[in-house]
Amino acid sequence: MREKRHAEIVGAGLGGLTAAAALCQRGWSVRVHERMPEMRIVGSGLSMFENSLRVMRALGAEADACRGARQGFERETRDARGRTTSHLKYSTRMFEITRQQVVAALAKAAERSGAEIVTGSTVVEADPSGAITLAKGRVCRADLVVAADGVHSRIRDQLRIPYRQRWLKDGAIRIMVPRLPEELSSPDAKRNVEYWSGYRRILLAPCSDEDLYVALTTLDTDEVGKRIPIDKVAWQAAFPALRDLIGRLDGEARWDRFQVISMKRWSKGRVAVIGDAAHAMAPNLGQGGACAMMNALGLAVTLEHGADVETALEEWERKERPLTDHTQRFSSFYSELTVWPEWLRSRVFALLARSSWLRSQHQRTAFHIPRGTEGFDAPGALPAG
Ligand SMILES: Cc1cc2nc3c(=O)[nH]c(=O)nc-3n(C[C@H](O)[C@H](O)[C@H](O)COP(=O)(O)OP(=O)(O)OC[C@H]3O[C@@H](n4cnc5c(N)ncnc54)[C@H](O)[C@@H]3O)c2cc1C
Repeated sequence: MREKRHAEIVGAGLGGLTAAAALCQRGWSVRVHERMPEMRIVGSGLSMFENSLRVMRALGAEADACRGARQGFERETRDARGRTTSHLKYSTRMFEITRQQVVAALAKAAERSGAEIVTGSTVVEADPSGAITLAKGRVCRADLVVAADGVHSRIRDQLRIPYRQRWLKDGAIRIMVPRLPEELSSPDAKRNVEYWSGYRRILLAPCSDEDLYVALTTLDTDEVGKRIPIDKVAWQAAFPALRDLIGRLDGEARWDRFQVISMKRWSKGRVAVIGDAAHAMAPNLGQGGACAMMNALGLAVTLEHGADVETALEEWERKERPLTDHTQRFSSFYSELTVWPEWLRSRVFALLARSSWLRSQHQRTAFHIPRGTEGFDAPGALPAG
């Protein structure tokens, strides 16, 4: 019988926690290091489509993640005055969930499976031979190191694997707003709506009866638009139809410029780089976290049968990477639309709604059946929105 193998994971985000639960469930001992003193996440929501729901189902985290969350069926785009420019019905299940709830569900699944999560533990170095060094100087050896330390990954940089970092023109302020009782009965209560005004856009994504997730997207050169605290007057002038709602944007908010990371390879020796550290992307398809989760589960599945860790990591990248590359390309294209003239952009949205080929490309990642979830039932027919 094979000796129990050990993994050290850097980062307790969506990628690191998924890897932790999936590896433990396949007989590994796992320790996760999270540099923050607690796993607290600034308010934002996540669209979790069927592909990421399947990953959570495989880990036993789906019920906790989706409890009280809103199931969405459709998405609309509108102009600044509130006129609909496109309407898209999802062909897969989708839940809009607070990020805090998804992370908590994954952490619970990881711990239940036997993973140790150490908060306030910063990793400063990973060695391809299979070791990490903590800020406090301690060295921990492992059969596998997983660098899941996010878009600003220190471990990726320190490993010196060549990579390309492309800053996109746009970024977003994310903020959570308490929902008003009268909003719950509005036709928009059950869908995601994105309003466009020039290069600014506002996504409204209800997460539950209590929480509305709002993302204000604009160009990085828009100094007024990306200001925190939010410049309500400037945003209200751009979106008269959302005047009252913008007036209520008082919570903790953060601005992030979008970027795309593309590594020459996803591993070095016994270190696998996963999630945003390896393949950050624009969030326009709501699939960045899903790719992190699918690839983390795929990693554990490959290692289950793989001969040695290094060969298994190469096989893992060969299998997982094509879909991630596709998702990065498609979500970047959406960011390009930001600087297109309004009339042309509206035509693209209309085309997207009409063309089944474009829709299938757009939703290909959401439809994907992640490795490790093949045995699950296909999702049932969706009720009409
Ligand atoms: C505006 C916006 C909206 C988005 N919407 C969606 C969506 O709807 N659906 C979706 O699927 N994805 C979405 N994404 C993408 C998603 O947020 C990311 O892809 C996902 O969070 C990546 O997970 P991760 O685990 O790789 O990294 P992270 O979530 O960034 O986690 C990394 C963790 O590592 C820790 N860490 C960092 N350095 C160290 C260190 N040296 N030692 C120890 N710990 C460390 C960090 O504190 C952090 O907890 C969105 C992104 C943005 C910017």
